[in-house]
Amino acid sequence: MESINYRRGGIVFDIQRYSIHDGPGIRTIAFFQGCPLSCGWCCNPESQSMKPVLLFNAEVCVHCGKCLNACKYGALSVKNLSLIDRGTCVTCGECVKVCPAGALVIKGKEMTTGQLVKELKKDAITFRRSGGGVTLSGGEPLAQSDFAVELLKACKEQGWHTAMETTGLASDDVLKKVFPWVDLVLLDIKAFDSNVHKKYTGISNDVILKNSVIISDIAPTVVRIPTVPGVNASAGEYEAICAHVKKMNGVDTIHILPYHTYGENKYSLLGEEYPMKGLACLSKEEIESLKKTVEAEGFKCVIGG
Ligand code: SF4
Ligand code: SF4
Repeated sequence: MESINYRRGGIVFDIQRYSIHDGPGIRTIAFFQGCPLSCGWCCNPESQSMKPVLLFNAEVCVHCGKCLNACKYGALSVKNLSLIDRGTCVTCGECVKVCPAGALVIKGKEMTTGQLVKELKKDAITFRRSGGGVTLSGGEPLAQSDFAVELLKACKEQGWHTAMETTGLASDDVLKKVFPWVDLVLLDIKAFDSNVHKKYTGISNDVILKNSVIISDIAPTVVRIPTVPGVNASAGEYEAICAHVKKMNGVDTIHILPYHTYGENKYSLLGEEYPMKGLACLSKEEIESLKKTVEAEGFKCVIGG
């Protein structure tokens, strides 16, 4: 076994236990902070920044003003606490400590590989009994690739199954370093049309599509399509994605991840407008129709994670 640097650190914004949708068995998900994409439908917008972020819940704030006095940096606005100056805020947490209402929360915490593995060991029996393991998610785990590699190596040393939810955006060197340690890749393809991809995620998909082929050569891969009305929820877009997936190595299953609005309230905690405001979810019939398209292209299709 290669040596593991347990002191290698990174930023984790959540640890979620007892998940059954993100790989085989019962899993614990380590959510990595930071993502190079900014998908309009993202249900974890607090994960997009590469740094921890301060969230403010106006609905529980009692307007005592204690946070304003606690902030030495002038990052909070007297006129409107939702307008946190994120360029100035250093997420020191002083305002969080004095808030009597729990209206301020910092998401994202520095952890070493050793600290994270210690947390994950609490679920080791569940992993063993269920055939589960650890899933790295985000954000985009590849955005903290050195941390991801150390964590993955540590998981393998414990004998745990490893999975990664990723969009695959990274350099070739990162792909070769990370994916040999991953037992199952859950790879998102959000659109085949590069202009559509750029419009809704902030970047073109040229590198992502190229990398998807490389990744499938290294590790078993399932493709997932986050499916959003007006973006990619059409037979034509699905057929184009399926044609691309046929160029990948050994991919026989495509997951449809139907658009939902579970993350909408988080945008207000960040002081932002929800980019997809008012967008209706897909009907059961529309989802079934897309499933038939996938199956007609020769793939197994799963609705949901
Ligand atoms: S986290 Fe620190 S810098 Fe940011 S607003 Fe609160 S007190 Fe100010
Ligand atoms: S300390 Fe908390 S409750 Fe008081 S004004 Fe600030 S956010 Fe609101």
